Amino acid sequence: MLYAIITMLVLGALLGLGLGIASKYLAVKEDERIEMVTQMLPNYNCGSCGYPGCSGLAQALVNGEVTTVGTCRPCKADQKEAIAEYLNKTPGPDGKCLKVKV
Ligand code: SF4
Repeated sequence: MLYAIITMLVLGALLGLGLGIASKYLAVKEDERIEMVTQMLPNYNCGSCGYPGCSGLAQALVNGEVTTVGTCRPCKADQKEAIAEYLNKTPGPDGKCLKVKV
């Protein structure tokens, strides 16, 4: 019985250590601009932009798939300008800024 408990404790510790190391070295870093642009969009999640929600369009804008903020029709003019200005002035992880139109 004691042997089984010790084995489970050692096994748990080793697996926990393995997961800890894996989460540190295999972590996928997300571009912070995606979260920021998602917050700047109207967040109606209506899908009229062709993406399943505002975070989908934000990801497409940051990835360069979409180059016009006007793809989001419900977005007001001042919101579009703010998003375009943010993306055009904020460098990504590669140090480059995007060229996004309103
Ligand atoms: S059209 Fe605009 S509000 Fe609607 S899901 Fe797309 S980004 Fe969100």
